[in-house]
Amino acid sequence: MELFDLTGHVSIVTGGNRGIGFGLARGLARANASVAIWARDLEKADEAVGRLSGLGKGEAISVACDVTDERSVIDALAATVDQMGKVDSVFANAGVTSGVAFPEMELAELENVFDVNVGGVFLVAREVARHLIARDAPGSIVITSSIAANRGNPTAPHYSASKGAATAFARALAVRLARHNIRVNVIAPGWVATEMTDELQGNERFEDALRFRVPLRRWGTAEDFEGVAVFLASPASAYMTGTEIVVDGGYSAF
Ligand code: NDP
Repeated sequence: MELFDLTGHVSIVTGGNRGIGFGLARGLARANASVAIWARDLEKADEAVGRLSGLGKGEAISVACDVTDERSVIDALAATVDQMGKVDSVFANAGVTSGVAFPEMELAELENVFDVNVGGVFLVAREVARHLIARDAPGSIVITSSIAANRGNPTAPHYSASKGAATAFARALAVRLARHNIRVNVIAPGWVATEMTDELQGNERFEDALRFRVPLRRWGTAEDFEGVAVFLASPASAYMTGTEIVVDGGYSAF
């Protein structure tokens, strides 16, 4: 369907070598986009590229990038443009958390999480915005935040704070970049079965709580993010900016 077709479209997915990022990348590839997977673990990114091969008309590449490192982000964008010719959208999805309790938590713990979840999003969005503005091209910037931004999460307050910052950042960017026809939106996942939630998967108490709290009564999966990626990158969402799409099985509605 033309409205969702991404033929000729080039997209970056940070943290696209696994988990939610891979789901986003897979959706984009299936809609015929070319996809650049940015991550630190290049071997895993190469594997992901292999799994995308043949899904659509576009190509896929892997690019080594540490989103907390300004030079690395600048170089990764240059490498992507060099190989793909341009960039039309970016999914600033790379994110981390940690399980240190509060008030035992050290300041460094918060700083590590903010470096990736806020600093990394800032650098990636800034570099892609500069590229789009220089080309005078429309674009879509999508930030993976979390429902944790709006809920009291007692086990990871530093993570919640970082996601609150990412969501607020996206809203402000949306207003600033609208004059360039660059849209900025947020995806807010709920509980998704990835490496990030590894320790909770299979934990009987948590699984029971999840089935009670999530109206759809299951974990989210990487596949659940394929459609939303296509929607936010494509003309189907042309009049949407500064907003959030919640993908949480109904958790927030309950
Ligand atoms: P994973 O731990 O499976 O994946 C995290 C990804 O981020 C990996 O691809 C990792 O690649 C990349 N990454 C981490 N640090 C950096 C860095 N410094 N530079 C570049 N890439 C980095 O997590 P998810 O797939 O679950 O998470 C994806 C996003 O979704 C995150 O922003 C997370 O906060 C958010 N989210 C997840 C939820 C869940 O329940 N799983 C719920 C709500 C939000 P590499 O290590 O190779 O660099």
